[in-house]
Order: sequence, then C-alpha cells, then structure tokens
Amino acid sequence: MADVFTKEKRSEVMSHIRCRGTKPEILVAKYLFSKGLRYRKNDKRYPGHPDLVFPKYKTVVFVHGCFWHLHEGCRMARIPKGNYEYWSEKLLRNRQRDQEEQQKLKAMGWKVIVVWECTLSPKQREKTLSDLLEEIRGSDFKKQ
Ligand SMILES: [Zn+2]
Repeated sequence: MADVFTKEKRSEVMSHIRCRGTKPEILVAKYLFSKGLRYRKNDKRYPGHPDLVFPKYKTVVFVHGCFWHLHEGCRMARIPKGNYEYWSEKLLRNRQRDQEEQQKLKAMGWKVIVVWECTLSPKQREKTLSDLLEEIRGSDFKKQ
C-alpha cells in the first residue's frame, strides 16, 4: 500500500508538526491558561522537555504529532512505504525515546499526559481539552 499522503501533502504535514511551539501545542496551552492553569513551557530540566509543566499538579503534558511520535493505530502515523526502512527505524526510535523519557518522569513522581495531535481536530477538540483539564486537576498533588 502506498503512503496515505502525496509527496506534497506529506511534507506539509511534516513541516506543520516538526517543531515545538506549533499550533497544537499553542491550542492546548491557551485553553488551559484560559481555565486558570499556570504552567512552564518546554522546561529543559525535565526528560523529554515536556511541552507544558504544571508544578502545582506535579503533572507534565506532551503534545505529540502523530507522525513523528508514531501514534499507535492512528492513520496519521503510518510509516511511509517509500524508504520504509529509514522511516521505520527513525520513527520507532522516536517512540522508544518517548517511552524512556516518560518512564524517567514517572520515576521522578510526575504524572505524564500525552495529547495526540489527531485528538485536537475541530470535531474532537472540545472533548479532548475538557478531559485534559479534568485529568490535570484530578491529580491534585499538594507539595508538602
Ligand atoms: Zn493520532
């Protein structure tokens, strides 16, 4: 089976989700800010540099692009058939690294939440964000 995207679409998708500070992350950050949550962004002191860190809730949030982080079962996360070996190695390595970083964070006592880009589509966005808010607030960790 061929790549689900044309070459042009593929590079558009990739460029869209390559960097931090891209749209999905801003969307999530703005929503949580509007609900009164305060966070630190891209804190380099933590494994994996989580997109958002909520010290009050001892929670970190990653906003992951489905392609680069190989969202399991997601149609945006198919490995391109052209150059299959290169991509599968690269993307599986990304996923492996994600898992290791998340394990480290958990071992440090942090709650780790991953928001997948596909769940921020206009249709699902509202539910994803309100669930996220609840999940963060639910981990009402109080510093001793
Ligand atoms: Zn996805």
